[in-house]
Amino acid sequence: MSRPRILIVGAGFAGYRTARTLSRLTRDRADITLLNPTDYFLYLPLLPQVAAGILEPRRVTVSLSGTLRHVRLVLGEADGIDLDARTVHYTGPEGQGGTLGYDRLVLAVGSVNKLLPIPGVAEYAHGFRGLPEALYLRDHVTRQIELAAAAEDPESCSERCTFVVVGAGYTGTEVAAQGQLLTDALVREQPLRQGMRPRWLLLDVAPRVMPEMDERLSRTADRVLRRRGVDVRMGTSVKEATHDGVLLTDGEFVATRTLVWCVGVRPDPLVESIDRPLERGRLLVDPYLQVPGHPEVFACGDAAAVPDLEKPGQYTPMTAQHAWRHGKVCAHNVAASLGFGSRRVYRHRDLGFVVDLGGVQAAANPLGIPMSGLLAGAVARGYHLAAMPGNRVRVAADWLLEALLPRQGVQLGLVRSWSVPLESSSPELARVPGGPDLPHGTKENS
Ligand SMILES: Cc1cc2nc3c(=O)[nH]c(=O)nc-3n(C[C@H](O)[C@H](O)[C@H](O)COP(=O)(O)OP(=O)(O)OC[C@H]3O[C@@H](n4cnc5c(N)ncnc54)[C@H](O)[C@@H]3O)c2cc1C
Repeated sequence: MSRPRILIVGAGFAGYRTARTLSRLTRDRADITLLNPTDYFLYLPLLPQVAAGILEPRRVTVSLSGTLRHVRLVLGEADGIDLDARTVHYTGPEGQGGTLGYDRLVLAVGSVNKLLPIPGVAEYAHGFRGLPEALYLRDHVTRQIELAAAAEDPESCSERCTFVVVGAGYTGTEVAAQGQLLTDALVREQPLRQGMRPRWLLLDVAPRVMPEMDERLSRTADRVLRRRGVDVRMGTSVKEATHDGVLLTDGEFVATRTLVWCVGVRPDPLVESIDRPLERGRLLVDPYLQVPGHPEVFACGDAAAVPDLEKPGQYTPMTAQHAWRHGKVCAHNVAASLGFGSRRVYRHRDLGFVVDLGGVQAAANPLGIPMSGLLAGAVARGYHLAAMPGNRVRVAADWLLEALLPRQGVQLGLVRSWSVPLESSSPELARVPGGPDLPHGTKENS
């Protein structure tokens, strides 16, 4: 009998873990193919540190072909799934199309930036979901400080060194916390007009930062942000964004050239295309991570609505912790469906959360024990090193360098504004000239 073909679409937390576990479980008795637009796994929780100039971008990546044995990597983006023919169509990095057949399919395509219908946001805001956006933000922020330092008039200086982050979930909170430290470090090297200090605003319609988390974590983060000088405004959002600034829902106009959109994510739209039941855009699966009516199709991670057996009637939240653990269960169940081992339901125990706020500050609650300050900082970094599937020594080396040396205040300008539009189903890839149309209102030289 020919070897079964397993196709995994997406190499993030869920897909990478599925591939790695399956390669061990099937021991070369199945053909495993991994389809992903990039040749690396991206450790998203450390992305704010890339934007803040603490970690170099390659540190938060892990080579797929270098770490996944017996897994064939196909570079490309799935753009069509035919469940009857059991094929997936994809487009490769140079525009070429291809089709892959499968006996078992795992959909682990993650999520993309969530948009809200607010005038000007799609044109003037940037998301924070992929490496290109983090690189863009680091360069953009550095450039704003450089332009502010050289500005003749105080208005222009103030506009350039005001930064607005919308969405105070863990991503927005970390971006604002790290951002304030970055810009303070930059102005130490090139002081702004007398008395001016970079100003970061963190907005959310929710009553507190990180509303989805334990209140003690939220209080710690709020305290650190305010002490650092971040203008935390809860119950406030953006009514309109323009080239020169943002109009807030409380009526104030904030002059700024930087709007970072961290209002959350939505499942990758690919899962809508297979016309199976969805739960808030996520593909509905059973506790074995199988798509009802299609036992050969599995889904996991952010793109899947996985029943939370600890909280009946709910689905597991979109976090790396869940996606990583989904991946392991998914691999076991795919293998079981091929006759290797037995299947299991997805069940989890809350291990707590860590939020790195930069410097030596963090908020953490490992196993439910609330921590702040230095201890939380050490726990957060230890947790990330343990959780990363590779590249740990390089990450630790960058942290050591950060402790010893000043940050490098240079912008390479390789990722431009137009190449990282907020509205994109591929935040992992920067747009290139000659690619799909630029979004309305953007210029190639911006
Ligand atoms: C900035 C940031 C910080 C975060 N911090 C934390 C944290 O501290 N703790 C935590 O628990 N969670 C955190 N999260 C959330 C966490 O990263 C996600 O829940 C997790 O990545 C979901 O894993 P996934 O495998 O479903 O998706 P992803 O990890 O996003 O992987 C999806 C993969 O699918 C690929 N893909 C997408 N579309 C296609 C396609 N059409 N064809 C082929 N491949 C495709 C993508 O390139 C990617 O490789 C953070 C998220 C962000 C954005």
